Amino acid sequence: MPTRLEQICLDKGLRMTEQRRVIARVLSESQDHPDVELVYKRASDIDDTISISTVYRTVRMFEENGILERHDFGDGRARYEEASDQHHDHLINVQTGQVIEFTSQQIEDLQKKIAKELGFELIDHRLELYGKPLSQKAAKVPPEESVVNIKHTTHSKKSV
Ligand SMILES: [Zn+2]
Repeated sequence: MPTRLEQICLDKGLRMTEQRRVIARVLSESQDHPDVELVYKRASDIDDTISISTVYRTVRMFEENGILERHDFGDGRARYEEASDQHHDHLINVQTGQVIEFTSQQIEDLQKKIAKELGFELIDHRLELYGKPLSQKAAKVPPEESVVNIKHTTHSKKSV
């Protein structure tokens, strides 16, 4: 059965070679915002005929077709994740490279308001927060004061 990403490619009429299929599957199954080298490592574990330049080309093609989103989490490496209708923002732990996905209605509303005040309709935004961990005690926020919903946390290596 094709993965979600593969299915999107097929729906968009992209020619899916076996290698592209493997790369699409790897990306679909990766929750940790991998960079090209990590995608290459995972894809070549499945099919060792896949070269890093094939991964680069395929990832670029997916990105150009709006299938993948590219991120820059401040370490100079482009990271990828499957594009999704469900928007989320990212917090990056600068000490470990851990990535936390979150949403915040307050942020969404405030951004729309700012855009409107400046005479624009907001159509998209990117938000990356960079932080180092507080002590557990300092981090405690009572649930009623919470402004974020955590979607997903990944422990991604900063570099290979
Ligand atoms: Zn994400």
